Amino acid sequence: MESPAIAAIAAIAINGTIETGPGPIARIRTHQPPSRSAMKKLIKGLRQFQSQYFSSHQDLFAQLAHGQKPRVLFIACSDSRVDPNLIVQAEPGEIFVLRNAGNIVPPYGAANGGEGATIEYAIAALGVSDVIVCGHSHCGAMKGLFKLKELQESMPLVCHWLNHAEATRRVVLDNYTACSKDELAEIAVAENVLTQIDNLRTYPIVRSRLNQGSLRLHAWVYEFETGEVYAYDPIKQEYVSPEQTWNQPTPAFRLPHQVATACDWLPEDQADRIYRGSH
Ligand SMILES: [Zn+2]
Repeated sequence: MESPAIAAIAAIAINGTIETGPGPIARIRTHQPPSRSAMKKLIKGLRQFQSQYFSSHQDLFAQLAHGQKPRVLFIACSDSRVDPNLIVQAEPGEIFVLRNAGNIVPPYGAANGGEGATIEYAIAALGVSDVIVCGHSHCGAMKGLFKLKELQESMPLVCHWLNHAEATRRVVLDNYTACSKDELAEIAVAENVLTQIDNLRTYPIVRSRLNQGSLRLHAWVYEFETGEVYAYDPIKQEYVSPEQTWNQPTPAFRLPHQVATACDWLPEDQADRIYRGSH
């Protein structure tokens, strides 16, 4: 049986009505009580999913129990306003998703985290044919790039993580000097997906598949307040509608043909093979 004092403290913790007090109460006021309505709402949603969506898609889920064959790896931010499956209206089993703060891809070997393993698994084991790196408007991680000193103190892990977007910060600060802080954060979103595409190219499996022509990389920006998605066109070097770029081969880091064939110390057929790759 709990004492009246403990019961009172529990009531305070739940209702959050007392802000000062000695002893245990003083400790309580430093914490927000966990939200009960948020979990209640989610559980209600779970029951609704089971009774409606799941019951009308039972065949799909039964089929997925035999294995998955997603064709696309979708790399997005963890931001609650971004929902990859919703944006592209994908059913379960259609897209393999990797999410983290800032839709960041650490360069190969730079971190022993789940990102590299997820990318490798998606390409080597599942054989995805397309990778989308999708940034979004009003991204907190991109705003954080411009206040690293504050973050170092308050969120050292986030600060450390944003090192993988240092090239984004540098490109933006060096090349957009006339822009306001808010504009810089939005430009950083668009530049960052290109930085992360560059980081993706450092993975041996990505490099190999690009060389074979069996993988395409896509840089997208999702503007959640309008629902628009913009895709980077590496030939035009600008953001356009995704319909204009989806089927473009991704330019690989290859020797330009003139350079390869100009190697007069190599037999011509060997130089040509180097240019074309060995597949
Ligand atoms: Zn974000």
